[in-house]
Amino acid sequence: MKVNFLIVGCGFTGATFAERIATQLNKKVLVVEKRNHIGGNAYDCYNEHGILIHKYGPHIFRTSSPKISSYLTSFCSWRPYFHKVLALVDGSLVPVPFNLNSVNQVFPKNYAAKLEDELIDKIGFNKTITIHKLFESKSPLLQELANYIFEKVYLHYTKKQWGLNPDQLSPSVIGRVPVRVNRDDRYFDDWFQAMPTQGYTVLFEKMLNHPNIHILLNTDYKEIVKESTYDQMIYTGPIDEFFDFCHGPLPYRSLEFEYMTLEEEYVQPVAVINYPNNFEYTRVSEFKHISGQKHSKTTLAYEYPKEYVIGKNIPYYPVLNDETKERFRKYEKEAEKISQKVIFAGRLADYQYYNMAQAVGRALRLFETRIMNG
Ligand SMILES: Cc1cc2nc3c(=O)[nH]c(=O)nc-3n(C[C@H](O)[C@H](O)[C@H](O)COP(=O)(O)OP(=O)(O)OC[C@H]3O[C@@H](n4cnc5c(N)ncnc54)[C@H](O)[C@@H]3O)c2cc1C
Repeated sequence: MKVNFLIVGCGFTGATFAERIATQLNKKVLVVEKRNHIGGNAYDCYNEHGILIHKYGPHIFRTSSPKISSYLTSFCSWRPYFHKVLALVDGSLVPVPFNLNSVNQVFPKNYAAKLEDELIDKIGFNKTITIHKLFESKSPLLQELANYIFEKVYLHYTKKQWGLNPDQLSPSVIGRVPVRVNRDDRYFDDWFQAMPTQGYTVLFEKMLNHPNIHILLNTDYKEIVKESTYDQMIYTGPIDEFFDFCHGPLPYRSLEFEYMTLEEEYVQPVAVINYPNNFEYTRVSEFKHISGQKHSKTTLAYEYPKEYVIGKNIPYYPVLNDETKERFRKYEKEAEKISQKVIFAGRLADYQYYNMAQAVGRALRLFETRIMNG
């Protein structure tokens, strides 16, 4: 087959490139996807009970970028959705990220009032601080609070999630844990928080519905690359695999999802409950809270972190630390040598934790800099 662009992978990165190239440049694109569906990890589908589920874990869309939100809202309608997460701590379900409501739930009234005054006085009302900054505080009360949150909400969750101690991970992973000096129970603070009304797969269908875009599912690009004629490749798969692991494999953490459907309308008060200290699973998600779907039954997903084994399970989260970043840089140098022919982008090719909006944003940026004006 002869095309202008061969795109490997049909997640948000691949689909954004395909849509832009087809509509803005009127060029032909072949998207090759090894799974049997479009959408990458954001893929959703109806299960045997007719409930919309996310096959690769709950995916909540949010962004503070007007460019990204207006790009994606041009394809379908969106339903405002403010994600909330509770964590089981000392027998009660408390809002996370930890905020003033959480403080009042876990501590006795008088002590909670003291902590609240200290947080407002030392950090400021409506401010957000990372757990690490809280540790560095000179106030003994705030240090105690940091210890409590670290131990009860963070330490064991991190060990379960990553199979590592927090100090074995990059500060970029650790730094993501905020503490909020307000009563805002929403998990995210981006101004655009919404879900595609008919789900992600319909959004992808709309993005990819163009005569210039041809999609080949159930196909590893290696099976067709030698017979394909193309000017440029956009590769969104794992970068180490592209270079036959010549600098060694890049480590990932994998997950396993166990689904359960119950004859009840709702089981949980919110979409996600974290279990930092109990059970083998890290969290339980109830999809109907996220989709807004009305149904007499409900489906839950139990999430078990697993060791990643190449070829056996799915690479979900890059394990970022100094050593793995250094290994990635070696692959980046290999990529630079072939940059005229291949563009590497996406969470697997960039070996980065991108949320969906970041994946779209990077694809839009690279389309402009490397393809339109390249
Ligand atoms: C458990 C979990 C929960 C998440 N929750 C959220 C959330 O709530 N909100 C949010 O914004 N983001 C979330 N994310 C991140 C989100 O999944 C990513 O931002 C998004 O998937 C990135 O898109 P991508 O196209 O770069 O990668 P992917 O979606 O992974 O797409 C890459 C595609 O390439 C294909 N591929 C790989 N190798 C080959 C090959 N050799 N040949 C052919 N095809 C190949 C893969 O099969 C895959 O479909 C979550 C991620 C995980 C793991």
